[in-house]
Amino acid sequence: MIERLAIIGVGLIGGSLSLALRQAGAVGEVVGFGRNRNNLDKGVELGVLDRHAATLAEAIDGADVVVVAVPLGAMSAVLAEIGRALPDSAVVTDVGSAKGAVVSAARAAFGEALPRFVPGHPIAGTEKSGVEAGFASLFQGRRVILTPLAETDAGATDTVAAMWQHCGAVVESMDVEHHDRVLAATSHLPHMLAYALVHHLSNLNDHAEIFRYAAGGFRDFTRIASSDPVMWRDVCLANGEALVELIEQYQHELELVAAAIRDSDADELLRLFGRAKSERDSLIGNC
Ligand code: NAP
Repeated sequence: MIERLAIIGVGLIGGSLSLALRQAGAVGEVVGFGRNRNNLDKGVELGVLDRHAATLAEAIDGADVVVVAVPLGAMSAVLAEIGRALPDSAVVTDVGSAKGAVVSAARAAFGEALPRFVPGHPIAGTEKSGVEAGFASLFQGRRVILTPLAETDAGATDTVAAMWQHCGAVVESMDVEHHDRVLAATSHLPHMLAYALVHHLSNLNDHAEIFRYAAGGFRDFTRIASSDPVMWRDVCLANGEALVELIEQYQHELELVAAAIRDSDADELLRLFGRAKSERDSLIGNC
């Protein structure tokens, strides 16, 4: 049971976390902080927050757990401010989609309080953002990856793991670099492909005609191109190295497909598509 939870950044993820904990009866008071008062008022109206605070220091005052759910580009400044005002026993965690950059910022921000910071990432989301997009079942049955550091206090990790388990999530741990490599492949690269495809098609002269005939496959493939551009700009900046390496490998893969088509190499096309289909068919049950 968390007596007082402070959520810094009350959007899709922060809002859904509050709703899930409330539904589980696992939280007392929820205090929010953000830049936009209308958004915070909406949070209170929707039952996401009990109240919001005028300053970040006021929001985290007396909190047992502080969850930082701002875009990655705002993490560094927000963590630095938390570091200056952190209550003695509070545990801090974040939900950022890339961990290396957040961990560097936390090391700079927390000093002796670093053991009370538990980096985290819920592998759940939608293409929508903002507090109104939040819903209590978002994390149900989904994975949450914690990337505790060598310095991280085991009790702090247990507190954060229990928080996510109350939301119905399955909690796993891995190291920071491994997380960023795996997520670059499974989440960050697919977002780049969806954005690039829609951008490419929208540059074609007859794009209105093309989009008019877009069917289910196009919708499925490009849904995530409706995701928040600010969030994905920040993910690219925070996990650029791993991501660019994968984009280059993927370009090579596309070259192989183009070459097989150019050569009318039916066997190669069948081999390639057959292997991809059987991989996806065997994996999708776990996704
Ligand atoms: P979101 O819906 O846009 O919410 C972010 C919230 O942060 C907004 O309500 C915004 O409110 C607030 N904010 C922005 N800058 C701030 C600042 N400097 N100080 C305080 N509050 C600030 O975004 P989200 O999808 O919940 O994403 C939040 C985090 O979760 C990101 O780090 C993202 O990488 C991670 N994440 C996202 C997903 C996903 O699928 N969406 C999945 C897993 C993890 P104001 O404008 O009022 O300040």
